[in-house]
Amino acid sequence: MTSVLRVENLRISFRQDGQTLPAVKGVSFEVGKGETVALVGESGSGKSVTALSTVRLLGEAAQVEGSVRYDGRELIGAPDAVLRGVRGNDISFIFQEPMTSLNPLHTLQKQLEESLQLHQGLRGEAAKARIVELLDKVGIRDAAERLNDFPHQFSGGQRQRIMIAMALANQPELLIADEPTTALDVTIQAQIIDLLAELKRSEGLSMLFISHDLALVRRIADRVCVMKDGEIVEQGPAAEVFAAPQHPYTKKLLAAQP
Ligand code: ADP
Ligand code: MG
Repeated sequence: MTSVLRVENLRISFRQDGQTLPAVKGVSFEVGKGETVALVGESGSGKSVTALSTVRLLGEAAQVEGSVRYDGRELIGAPDAVLRGVRGNDISFIFQEPMTSLNPLHTLQKQLEESLQLHQGLRGEAAKARIVELLDKVGIRDAAERLNDFPHQFSGGQRQRIMIAMALANQPELLIADEPTTALDVTIQAQIIDLLAELKRSEGLSMLFISHDLALVRRIADRVCVMKDGEIVEQGPAAEVFAAPQHPYTKKLLAAQP
């Protein structure tokens, strides 16, 4: 399988009060084309910083070493312009909190127009048609009639759908979803997971899916990487990891599931 993202011996530490604190200690994994790989583990295990570091979103305090290859291109140490290109054209993110990512003062149309203009130079009627198409795709009903609505007029689940539409605006190859349903009710969580699974099929999206929730991971992942204290303690095909976990920590996580 062709690999879209290949992370090798990734190490991340943070400089704080004259000390260097390690957060990720030599992590390696791959996301194949069209594949959904889950990073799973408890809070603080290093999932988010691993994801953010791939396209250099961690800021000055972070020291990042190792190798991150996107479509064969090394990103660690690459010029800023290369990273901007990858962030703009190839890799999109969605996060836990859709409300804080949407501008409360902008209509739906304006939020999406900004994504589209930035990425594709679309304007006017062409932009509007594409916006309705994107919103349709993520299951916002009557999208054409809702373009002048503001974020607070949508439910939490609908706002996350809007964020997914914005993430798809640049037709990314890889979607990194960091706890995308953690802030949502359980029934809505399942709907968003089903939407992501559907997009994987219809758009051929590759996905890095981050969650502390094994039940969600089980629904969507092809492969699973179990993280603990900044290391991947076990990884493999989802069916195998769930059916026959090898590492004591994975066994413990699975036993703790309702
Ligand atoms: P997870 O997403 O698995 O809950 P994180 O990746 O957010 O965990 O964090 C991993 C570790 O890195 C934690 O110990 C956290 O405190 C530390 N960390 C994350 N971001 C920063 C930062 N900006 N500065 C210092 N330490 C950080
Ligand atoms: Mg996190």
